[in-house]
Amino acid sequence: MSDQPMKRPRRFIAGAVCPKCSEMDKTVMFTDDAGEEVRECIACGYKQTYSEQLAEDAAAEELVTRVTPEGKAIYDEGEQPLKIIGLSPQDSDNT
Ligand SMILES: [Zn+2]
Repeated sequence: MSDQPMKRPRRFIAGAVCPKCSEMDKTVMFTDDAGEEVRECIACGYKQTYSEQLAEDAAAEELVTRVTPEGKAIYDEGEQPLKIIGLSPQDSDNT
């Protein structure tokens, strides 16, 4: 039997969804030998370190920002506002 000197505590992340198999409440979090937080899916074995998550989140955020439409109205440059000329009130009072 192999003896494990210290069993690292693994705890389930409530409501966490595995990005690979989409199983909910199957993700555990623990700390690896390097002291980094790791998430592992016990359903499919998908593993991701905390730094990998951050990189992925940043990439996803960037993508969303790029896709979001500006929602700004663009006016045609050739279009000019209509001007009404010769409508001054003094014109009719000139007899
Ligand atoms: Zn999974």
